[in-house]
Amino acid sequence: MTTGPDAAAGPWERRQRVRAAVVDERSAPFTVEDVQLERPRPNEVRVRMVATGICHTDLAVRDRFLPTPMPIVLGHEGAGVIEEVGSDVRSVRPGDHVVLGYAFCGECPSCTAGKPAYCVHRGVLRYGGTRPDGSHTLRRAGGELYGSFFGQSSFAEYALADERFVVPVPGDAPLEYLGPLGCSVQTGVGSVLAALRPDPGASLAVFGTGPVGMSAVLGAGLAGCDPIIAVDLRPGRLQLARELGATHTVNPTEDDPVIAIRDLTGGGAAFSVETTAVPTVLRAAVDSLGIRGRCGTVGVAPAGAEASFEMNTLLFGRSVQGILLGDRVPREFVPELVDLHLAGKLPFDRFCRFYELDRINEAVAATEGDGEVLKPLVTFGRT
Ligand SMILES: [Zn+2]
Ligand SMILES: [Zn+2]
Repeated sequence: MTTGPDAAAGPWERRQRVRAAVVDERSAPFTVEDVQLERPRPNEVRVRMVATGICHTDLAVRDRFLPTPMPIVLGHEGAGVIEEVGSDVRSVRPGDHVVLGYAFCGECPSCTAGKPAYCVHRGVLRYGGTRPDGSHTLRRAGGELYGSFFGQSSFAEYALADERFVVPVPGDAPLEYLGPLGCSVQTGVGSVLAALRPDPGASLAVFGTGPVGMSAVLGAGLAGCDPIIAVDLRPGRLQLARELGATHTVNPTEDDPVIAIRDLTGGGAAFSVETTAVPTVLRAAVDSLGIRGRCGTVGVAPAGAEASFEMNTLLFGRSVQGILLGDRVPREFVPELVDLHLAGKLPFDRFCRFYELDRINEAVAATEGDGEVLKPLVTFGRT
C-alpha cells in the first residue's frame, strides 16, 4: 500500500528549498545559500518575496548590538505575493500583494491600546530567532538556523509570516518599492504625522537624513511644517533633502546646527527628530528646541548607550519622546502611505536602489560609512 508523500509528512518533510542570505557570526558578510523553509502553519502565510529593503537594524543585529542568535536570516522590510496560506487564515489569500509588517503579540497592554510597535513581547517576537513557541521556520544542511526576524526573515526568496503581520496592498501599486513602508518609511513619516503631530507652519528639524530621516522630511512636508531643517554631514543627502521638501539644510562640518536652527526658527525649533542614535546628536536635537519644543528620537543605539543634556533644558516645557516604528498600526498606516505614494506625495522611491540577492554585500557596502545609497533593496530575480 502506498500513501501520498505529503499526507502524513511532518513540516520538515514538506519543506521548501529557498535561497537566502545568512549571517553566520557577528559582523560577518552575508552568505547566499540554499536553506529549507517550513510549510505554513495554520496561522501563517508563505510569501514569495519581490524585494526587501536593507535597514540599519539588520546591520545592527549583524553587529550584535542586540543579542539575537546566529546563524540567522535577517530582513524585515519585505514585500511580495502570497503563494500559500495556512488552514486558519481568513484575511488574505494566495495572489494578494502584501507588505510584511513587524511582529507583535496582540494581547499585551501596548497591543490592546493600539500601539503594537511597543509590544511588551517585542524582544522575543522580533529578535528571538524563532516562532513564539520556540520552533524554527528555517533550517539548513548541517546545522541550526534562526529566522522569524521581526516575524518575517525576508532576505530569502520566500518567507513565512503570521497572517496578522502582513498588510495587503493594492495590486497596481509598485510592489518592488513597498517593503520599506514596513519599517524605515513608516518610522520616519509616522514619527512626524502620528507621534509629534505638528500643526501646519510649525518648525521642525531632522537630524540625520538616512532613509528614516528623509522619510521624516517627507512627513514634515505632508504636515505643512515650515521651516523644515535637515541636518547631515553628507552634502549629497542634504541636496536630496532639499529636493524632497527641506526648506533649509545644515552641515555640522560647516555650521553649529544648534545655533543655525535657533537662528532659522527665531529661538529654537518646535519639533526635532533624531534618527542617528548618536548621543551627541541627540543632545544637539534637544538643545535646538525652543520653549515647549519636543524631540522625537527613533534610532536604535547599542545596548547600554547613554546620552545627556542639561536638566534645566527640560524645565521650559521641552520633552524627549522615544518613537518606535512610526507609532501606528501597520494594517492601517501602510495602506495610507501607499495611497500617498500613488498620489505622488510620498516619493520615497527617489532614494531606493535595487540589488540582486547575490549582490547583497555590495548593497550593504553602498549604504554604510560614506555610502550614498540611502535604501538598498534586495530583489529575487531567480524566483
Ligand atoms: Zn528597520
Ligand atoms: Zn503585544
